[in-house]
Amino acid sequence: MNVPQLPIAEQASVETVWMPEGDGGDEGDSSQASEAPTPATVNAGVAGDSPRRATICLSSQAGCAVNCAFCMTALLGLQRNLSAGEIVGQVLLVLAEHGVEAERERINLVFMGQGEPFLNYDNFMQAVRLLVQGVGIAESRMTVSTSGILPRLADFAREPVRPKLAISLNCSNDEGRSRVMPINRKWNLASLLDAARKFPLRPRERITFEYVLLGGENDSAGNARELVELLRGLRAKVNLIALNAGPGIAFCTPAEEQVLAFQRVLVRGGIPAFIRRPRGRDIYAACGQLKRASEVEVASPG
Ligand code: SF4
Repeated sequence: MNVPQLPIAEQASVETVWMPEGDGGDEGDSSQASEAPTPATVNAGVAGDSPRRATICLSSQAGCAVNCAFCMTALLGLQRNLSAGEIVGQVLLVLAEHGVEAERERINLVFMGQGEPFLNYDNFMQAVRLLVQGVGIAESRMTVSTSGILPRLADFAREPVRPKLAISLNCSNDEGRSRVMPINRKWNLASLLDAARKFPLRPRERITFEYVLLGGENDSAGNARELVELLRGLRAKVNLIALNAGPGIAFCTPAEEQVLAFQRVLVRGGIPAFIRRPRGRDIYAACGQLKRASEVEVASPG
């Protein structure tokens, strides 16, 4: 029989991460979660129980073009955008596997998996609307993370229905941020923070700034003090994530004491700061690691 071959881009797979009891106290962004995640791909999963609350981490693209230096997804490059149906399908698949009814349980969604959601903006926003109207998950239970695509951030600010905003910051000055996030050369910290200050927040809403701590690169007390000054006056909080080291990534995980010291500087400076506990490092399902193991072997040098 003649089996039609799909173009390579059509064969791309993405990963979705199910985190039982996933938000642990800070709704929607998993900043305080403590349980190990269960990895699920569009092809596989494990049937399980029905927890009362959970967070699902969704991919918006297969691979990513943003090329952050600490991120294993970046090693894939961009394979293709996901359709709105494929984004929603990740949620439906995981809910079905775990026997969860979204309307009854406390399900949080974070768009923090593979890809930059704001570079697949129309499909991402269409998925948000479908998830609100068709699946019954409130937008207040969703958080999207962007590396700082400013034109789309302006569009996002005008959306009548939108998730909460997280900005992936990862350094406290332009020189260092451009090293770890090349996108900073296009939209620098001043323009990004200016857009954040103008962003229309709802009552009690805060912008989350994510900061992946890279040992010896961006984790000094000086960086922490700069960060306090950058965020001063913003309704914001910071999620600190010690790097999940992996193959092909040139940075190392900072010592725990360094992470705690960084947090102390922020808190003393009046910036709420939370340490996201590493979950799933052993299976490469933690933050910045969403990349299939087989692809890691192919892509990683040596
Ligand atoms: S951290 Fe996010 S934006 Fe940066 S390369 Fe990885 S997936 Fe893309």
